[in-house]
Amino acid sequence: MFAYYNYENKEKKSTEFKSLALNVQDSVKKIERLFLVVTNFCSSKCLLCSYWKNKEPKFISLTFIKRKVIPLIRKYNIKFVCITGGEPTLHPELDKIIKLIKKKGIFVTLITNCIGLSKHFNKIKGYIDGYMISLDADTPTLLYKIRGNKNFLEVNSWPKKIKRESPLLKLCFLV
Ligand code: SF4
Repeated sequence: MFAYYNYENKEKKSTEFKSLALNVQDSVKKIERLFLVVTNFCSSKCLLCSYWKNKEPKFISLTFIKRKVIPLIRKYNIKFVCITGGEPTLHPELDKIIKLIKKKGIFVTLITNCIGLSKHFNKIKGYIDGYMISLDADTPTLLYKIRGNKNFLEVNSWPKKIKRESPLLKLCFLV
């Protein structure tokens, strides 16, 4: 079972959050994995996605995490949380979100295109159990064509950097 929570739940408060919570409540006792959308904004321009067309960046708040997400994690005995977006590294408080969730003993993974990872890496590296890296090209031209970004060398350097810091960590690649 997967449940998505995004910034709109916070803005449209009760209705959206409650209806989603009720749906979950009615149908299941336990949720295996939560995909948490922390922003609607992205630094790539992938062919397969329209997140990057969002003009107004929105970010999930720490209050929403504390008041809604943490209780949900407890209630449904969630063991895995996957932090995603948009591009989650654009969230200015990504480290605080990750730490709040990790404190609950959760296995935390981060889906990232790696473009903004350097801003957060030192603060989050001790709290992440796995990375899912958006990497579908073996040349700069192909990466630009598919994902609209020119950061081929930077993106490709991250798997090695991550492994150097945490050799036992699992890496997955989204292709
Ligand atoms: S990196 Fe992910 S969220 Fe961003 S445009 Fe590509 S598929 Fe969409």
